[in-house]
Amino acid sequence: MEKPWFEVEHYIGGEFVGGGNGFDVRYPATNEVIGTAPEGKEAEVDAAVGAAQEAFGKWGRMGAGERRLMLKRFAEGIRARADELARVESWDVGRPIRENTHGYVLRVAANIEFFADFVVTHGSDAYPMDTGYINYVLHQPVGVAGLITPWNVPMMLSTWKIGPALAFGNTVVLKPAELTPIGAWKLAQIAHESGLPPGVFNVVQGFGPDSAGAYLTAHPDVDLISFTGETTTGKAIMKSATDTLKRVSAEMGGKGPNVIFADADVDKAVQTSLRSSFFNQGEFCLAGSRIMVQRPLYEEFLEKFAAAAKGLKPGDPFDESTSLGSLIGPEHLEKVEGFLNGRSPAFHSGAEVRLGGDRPDLGAPFDGGNYLNATIVADVKPEDRISQEEVFGPVATAMPFDEEDEAISLANGVSYGLSAVVQTRDLGRAVRVAGAIDAGTVWVNDFFVRDLRVPFGGMKSSGMGREGGVYSREFFTEAKTVCLSNK
Ligand code: NDP
Repeated sequence: MEKPWFEVEHYIGGEFVGGGNGFDVRYPATNEVIGTAPEGKEAEVDAAVGAAQEAFGKWGRMGAGERRLMLKRFAEGIRARADELARVESWDVGRPIRENTHGYVLRVAANIEFFADFVVTHGSDAYPMDTGYINYVLHQPVGVAGLITPWNVPMMLSTWKIGPALAFGNTVVLKPAELTPIGAWKLAQIAHESGLPPGVFNVVQGFGPDSAGAYLTAHPDVDLISFTGETTTGKAIMKSATDTLKRVSAEMGGKGPNVIFADADVDKAVQTSLRSSFFNQGEFCLAGSRIMVQRPLYEEFLEKFAAAAKGLKPGDPFDESTSLGSLIGPEHLEKVEGFLNGRSPAFHSGAEVRLGGDRPDLGAPFDGGNYLNATIVADVKPEDRISQEEVFGPVATAMPFDEEDEAISLANGVSYGLSAVVQTRDLGRAVRVAGAIDAGTVWVNDFFVRDLRVPFGGMKSSGMGREGGVYSREFFTEAKTVCLSNK
């Protein structure tokens, strides 16, 4: 495939600025430079926040129906350029194109469309009092929303915030991860073409700490921050946002348990575990790669899972047969390998690398990329570092358990609580275990099915707050009570 060249820009106040200089944009699959992106600093953040503040006056007061029509055009623009956006996401992230085309871009559009519709299809509560007074609730926009997103699923995660922020009447400044700047720039182009008024949606490219991300978080005229990324970054953002009393929603890391009981359909459990461990080459906050299998099924499951995972094919993300993409960059590859290699691997000596652990031999130019074969480490212990920390790569671990209570306690024995998978044919057990696991979302006999109406977010170190449907409305609006006198 011919290498493209992207001159990524900021999008501020309805204008594309800053292109042609800044930092290199690299294609993770080869580490070749495929463009440049401008490095936003205080001046760009100030300009974007100023533009968003100015636009808020009109956008925030506009009727929800009118906003809906504009956002529908934005979503239609995304769908119309679905093929291009799917390719862009592969250039940005290194994810196989077949994982992008299968519904991915449609979901990117749906994230906007859903909330555009939500605002006109949902009313608000009224509370008549015994004394005859009537209270009703208004959900009013907050102001300027700062959105800070990570590199692993950039378009999905940014529209997940852009959609509700705009639909509920806020204006937006988006700071995408510096490793994946292309998608946000493309979304800005589509917003522009679809006629979104200037300043309603702004993008400032650049870095996080002591730079664009931190300026945005600390900016006195930004009213709320919706952040997705690492737990340590989330903590820093929350601290910084406290000084200006911003509300913060933080979706952070995960270490999802995948609990497989002996009565589970083993072939289905293998397929579900393949997706939960290796989708997006494991660079996935929701990954259910901390696998626990009830002892009678342990060996059979591991054998079948390893055979299936061996069939995952790393390589050219644009080859339709590629099923395992490149990690985001060399430093991240080394971090993931650090869980497996070296003088002190992140597991005790009795554990065994059943599959992978090595880099594939792909030849030029992909041997210059950041590939790791699908990896399974069996017989890990709960206290091993690999069982406790987020690996964020194509690495699954497995350990046996005997009793249901033990499985629950193992599942909950980490600091994270984002998502979990439970696999069993016993409905009562599914209900008990799903209820007992510390996680914002639990999938029973499946993985990564997401209804935009339901709350999404994490417990413990995985997050603060929930987004989705009415939960997004709670975050992206000010609820105001009006009390009507009957006198
Ligand atoms: P990071 O926390 O490193 O970065 C996320 C975003 O925050 C980036 O745009 C980054 O900018 C920015 N940033 C970094 N430091 C600061 C700061 N001090 N102030 C303001 N902004 C800052 O996460 P990654 O990009 O490495 O993403 C991977 C992480 O995201 C994993 O832990 C994963 O679990 C989590 N994640 C959570 C999800 C969830 O829904 N819970 C979903 C997807 C991922 P820059 O990168 O440009 O420096």
